[in-house]
Amino acid sequence: MPSPAPTYEQRPFWQTTMPAVPTYDDRPLPERADVVVIGGGYTGTVAALGLARSGARVTLLEKETLGWGASTRNGGIFHPGLKWGRAELERRYGADLGRAIFQAGVDAYFDAEAFVRSEGFDCQYRRAGLVILAWSKGHLRGKPAVLAEYESAGLHGRVIEGVAVHEEVGTDYYPGAMVLEESGVIHPGQYFAAIAAAAAGAGVDLHTGVSAQRIVPSSGSDHSVITDRGSIRAHDILVATNGYTDGLWPWLRQRIMPIGSYIVATEPMSEELAASISPRGRAFFDSKNFLYYWHVNADRRLIFGGRASFRPTSIDRTAAILTRALVTVHPQAAHMRIDYAWGGNVGFTFDRVPHLGEHGGIHYALGYCGSGLALGTSFGLRMAKRLGRGSDVADEPSAFERIPYPGAPVVPAMYRGRPWFLPLAGEWFRASDWLSRRGVSR
Ligand SMILES: Cc1cc2nc3c(=O)[nH]c(=O)nc-3n(C[C@H](O)[C@H](O)[C@H](O)COP(=O)(O)OP(=O)(O)OC[C@H]3O[C@@H](n4cnc5c(N)ncnc54)[C@H](O)[C@@H]3O)c2cc1C
Repeated sequence: MPSPAPTYEQRPFWQTTMPAVPTYDDRPLPERADVVVIGGGYTGTVAALGLARSGARVTLLEKETLGWGASTRNGGIFHPGLKWGRAELERRYGADLGRAIFQAGVDAYFDAEAFVRSEGFDCQYRRAGLVILAWSKGHLRGKPAVLAEYESAGLHGRVIEGVAVHEEVGTDYYPGAMVLEESGVIHPGQYFAAIAAAAAGAGVDLHTGVSAQRIVPSSGSDHSVITDRGSIRAHDILVATNGYTDGLWPWLRQRIMPIGSYIVATEPMSEELAASISPRGRAFFDSKNFLYYWHVNADRRLIFGGRASFRPTSIDRTAAILTRALVTVHPQAAHMRIDYAWGGNVGFTFDRVPHLGEHGGIHYALGYCGSGLALGTSFGLRMAKRLGRGSDVADEPSAFERIPYPGAPVVPAMYRGRPWFLPLAGEWFRASDWLSRRGVSR
């Protein structure tokens, strides 16, 4: 018998429950601005807001609608940290810089949280704490060292195993976990709408439905941005296009890989069921390559996401994979209806470190490798400081500004923004998840 047609809406749940963000189509472009920001997600809009407040004339160009990219599609887990721990960063960059990068990854969380709170944004932010579940016993054995690194950077947590896991999460699927207190959950759409409203209020010159197509750098006077609606001259240009980076700037496109991430949201659940899944209201993710991430949101829907596929795929296919995964991790939710399913692009760099800096006079901030809520916010804040009025006397560069930004390894010229090698990498990741779960590798 054919399975019944899915009943969910193929649309980010957040977009159905956020204030409408106005469109700014068909407005005349200025001839010149102090700064042109390309990309209207957290990074670009936070940067534009800070720049406008510093007195700069700033124009923001977004080719779809504001927030259309990952910033209204994500899992809502607002957390510190990078893909690599301190020891690995020290190995790559040397002891001092490695340590500084690790600390900067943690500080980004505190800066972003302070921004959310000081702006008084109405976006369901709650410092919920994060439980990082060990996918295998090998991963669990590594957790005390990881925790020690976080504690040295000012965070608080503990490693748990056996029955203690049930105090944090209602599942037997993982052998143990690391709990971090300094992390939160947020309504990504409400958060973005609040940033966009603040940017409009601060006088940012906003444009939607405008695609930046080419940048013409200049060593002496203003740079230019050529768009499908005309060109703009600017003293500075910031590219903040992350997982949606296109051919606008070939140098950048060779340094970022769009990778799909997908989410399903259930119908609202009873208080009892919510408490059985998440007794303390934490956020969760696990430690495998094909990771799952989830939390119970403010209206008690289970928001369950994952890197369901490294191949070209569809929302129906990924929703089916994630629904099965959700039931495997939380069998108590097996009867829950799926109300929404969606996906979006995360921006991965080849060294799996986010990057912010300047090349040929043009600025960029991107590459959060799936963790851009706090990082993207803090990179936007940093860029506003760096490019804002009075920035000649600005403070020290952040550690992220001191690291090189590598392109694709081996044959960089073969990479033109379409990650053809991802299905292969996916098979490798799947095999290594399988081996580590069986204790064959870490
Ligand atoms: C499904 C999913 C789940 C995620 N879960 C989490 C999570 O739980 N926690 C977390 O920390 N992070 C998460 N992330 C990552 C996080 O959402 C992103 O890192 C963050 O939103 C990046 O913001 P951004 O402003 O840099 O980019 P985006 O929000 O992606 O915005 C980039 C914008 O640039 C525009 N653009 C591109 N090219 C051009 C051009 N040529 N001209 C004009 N405009 C252009 C695009 O239209 C797009 O709107 C998730 C991402 C996805 C997709």
